[in-house]
Amino acid sequence: MYDFWLTCTRCGTGHPALPLYRCRACGGSLEVSYDYKAIFSRLPFERMAARTSPGIWKYRELLPVFPDTDPVTLGEGGTPLLPSGRMGSTTGGFRLYLKNESANPTLAFKDRPLSVALTAARQFGLTEVVCASTGNTGVAASAYAARAGLRCTVYVPAAAPAEKLEAMKAYGTVLETVTGSFSDAYAASAGEALRLGAFNLTSTYLNPYAVEGNKTLAYEIFASLQTVPDWIIIPVGAGPLLSGCYKGFREMLLAGVIDRLPRMVGVQASGCAPIVRAFQAGEQEVRPWSGSTATLASGIADPLSTYPEDGTRTLAVIRESGGAAVGVSDPEILRCRRMLAEREGILAELSSVTAVAAVEALCGSGAIRAGELVTAVVTGHGIKDMTAAINFEKTGVE
Ligand SMILES: *Cc1c(COP(=O)(O)O)cnc(C)c1O
Ligand SMILES: [Zn+2]
Repeated sequence: MYDFWLTCTRCGTGHPALPLYRCRACGGSLEVSYDYKAIFSRLPFERMAARTSPGIWKYRELLPVFPDTDPVTLGEGGTPLLPSGRMGSTTGGFRLYLKNESANPTLAFKDRPLSVALTAARQFGLTEVVCASTGNTGVAASAYAARAGLRCTVYVPAAAPAEKLEAMKAYGTVLETVTGSFSDAYAASAGEALRLGAFNLTSTYLNPYAVEGNKTLAYEIFASLQTVPDWIIIPVGAGPLLSGCYKGFREMLLAGVIDRLPRMVGVQASGCAPIVRAFQAGEQEVRPWSGSTATLASGIADPLSTYPEDGTRTLAVIRESGGAAVGVSDPEILRCRRMLAEREGILAELSSVTAVAAVEALCGSGAIRAGELVTAVVTGHGIKDMTAAINFEKTGVE
């Protein structure tokens, strides 16, 4: 009936477009599939991209929404792709662009997946939404739920930055603080969503509709550059932003508007880096991160305790693209945060500047070569974890 449906990433079974999270046949995670032939024959990709409307909804035929559903939107997407200026001169002979996602309505890229997820909630007639969040998903879910008039409950680990918690409350969200890591919040939210019959917006791969919003990042990077970068550098927790972005490039390849794919680099903080560990060990499967998850980069500190297969899915995309997974330390993160603010005028949150730290590392190791085109995604705004950064610089504790 529609041009999209859900497919199991493990066994390939197809399911109709319903609010589902797991394959009914095998329990595997689900992904949205499209009839691209039908979509592009009605509307070529170039014509979608040429629409004058700003933001992600100009690509709505490539998003999992019914044709008659009004998007839940706050003007997300359409963020600037800035050539690096004074910082580039320190990193050598490649061209670096910064995709500044802190220009989104709630100051992080999460507005892309949450705009799509709340639109999906609306089209399914759901009245409640629930999620687990390290902070930014919760803020975006709260804002878009408020916009849609839906009741929102967010489960956050106690270590989430105060700025994000206060923002969620300001939007009228019910906030539940969970002792432990993001993975503990994940478990609590899953139980509550089930109990309430609420749409679960948790930004792992759990909600297949949310993940699709991330594809628009790829469309926009291409629209700005009119070419495909050699490298795309993305901070990752579980990695749906990285996978979603790669899917967007694959769709453009299918549509015939590009002729090659970028190498995808996933960046994690060394203090919590399950995907990097597996990449470096040459393993095919990601294992949960054991022990402490101590890092200032709270937005990407996900030990993947009960869903390591999400990390495996991201690792597979990184490998397929010929990319890399890179770990960066907290001192490097703090140094890069200052550099990005002082030399580029971009104040990014601690999780986000890991992308810039990784560019330096890849350049230093010779992986990125002179003349190559690199896009680093600045995923969120520094104003949202200001207190953690200030406290750490003053006292050395979070
Ligand atoms: C969520 C988040 C990420 C990681 O994205 P995933 O798609 O969950 O891997 C990176 N940076 C910031 C600021 C985030 O909020
Ligand atoms: Zn299955």
